[in-house]
Amino acid sequence: MLAIEKLNKTYANGIQALRDISLEIDYGIFGLLGPNGAGKSSLMRTLATLQDADTGSIMLDGIDVLKNPQVARSMLGYLPQDFGVYPTVSAEDLLNQLAVFKGFINPKERKEVVAQQLQLVNLYEKRKQKLGTFSGGMRQRFGIAQALLGSPKLIIVDEPTAGLDPAERIRFQNLLSEISQNRVLLLSTHIVEDVAELCPNLAIMNQGEIIRSGNPQALINDLNGKVWTKVIQSNQDTGDSSEWTVITSRMLRGERWLRVLSDSQPDSDFHSVQPDLNDVYFTALLEKI
Ligand code: ADP
Repeated sequence: MLAIEKLNKTYANGIQALRDISLEIDYGIFGLLGPNGAGKSSLMRTLATLQDADTGSIMLDGIDVLKNPQVARSMLGYLPQDFGVYPTVSAEDLLNQLAVFKGFINPKERKEVVAQQLQLVNLYEKRKQKLGTFSGGMRQRFGIAQALLGSPKLIIVDEPTAGLDPAERIRFQNLLSEISQNRVLLLSTHIVEDVAELCPNLAIMNQGEIIRSGNPQALINDLNGKVWTKVIQSNQDTGDSSEWTVITSRMLRGERWLRVLSDSQPDSDFHSVQPDLNDVYFTALLEKI
């Protein structure tokens, strides 16, 4: 459905944001995880035809995206990280305007499409309300409504759940799941839980490279028997932790818990734990350092 091959991008300041990125992505939600600066937005913007790559190719449903950006644009929807809304304009008016840009020329058809999208994201009742009065969750749902205009084959969503409260986040995750039927939904995030909860496939990016990809559960299973934990008293010296490959060191209810990667029990205080996607993420990043 979406095939990315050997994509490279170096900015004018010399930063190589994309290094030989290759991915094959099928229908459903695909998660792209990585720390800030990993290159996720650079990849998203390139897929959205908003910037060029230096080399490489992107094929979307048989269309060469980089060579035919106009055609590709009609096949994709994009919800950027900083989706700006005009605070004094109503949801309906802005969506109507965006539908004009998307090529819905016929006013009657446009009105129907706009109403349909607002209903889908559960904002129809609020359509007359000014966007400046919307909560974070409502704004994100409005962002999805505009990304869905024209029934795109590919929807690109960049860091969508940052700033949402827990209830809004769940509602938004459910909406993403619903709209990922029969299309690719590419979800870029630095929130591991979002990917763990939503994505049957993922890639982890760091420093412009894909450092892991596959099914989250399979990646977790690769770590079976290799993750160990122990508690260290807050006042206890953790200086010898350099002997271990520390995945995370976290304060949990006043105690410092270490999680360590090791083929065998590091010492008798450690016990084996079930690995999770956080372990996959942090061990992948460790390898790059
Ligand atoms: P992410 O979305 O994972 O945080 P980005 O794609 O935004 O990563 O950034 C990747 C790297 O490229 C960072 O080092 C960032 O500073 C740099 N970068 C991003 N956009 C530009 C740009 N327009 N010009 C120069 N450097 C950029």
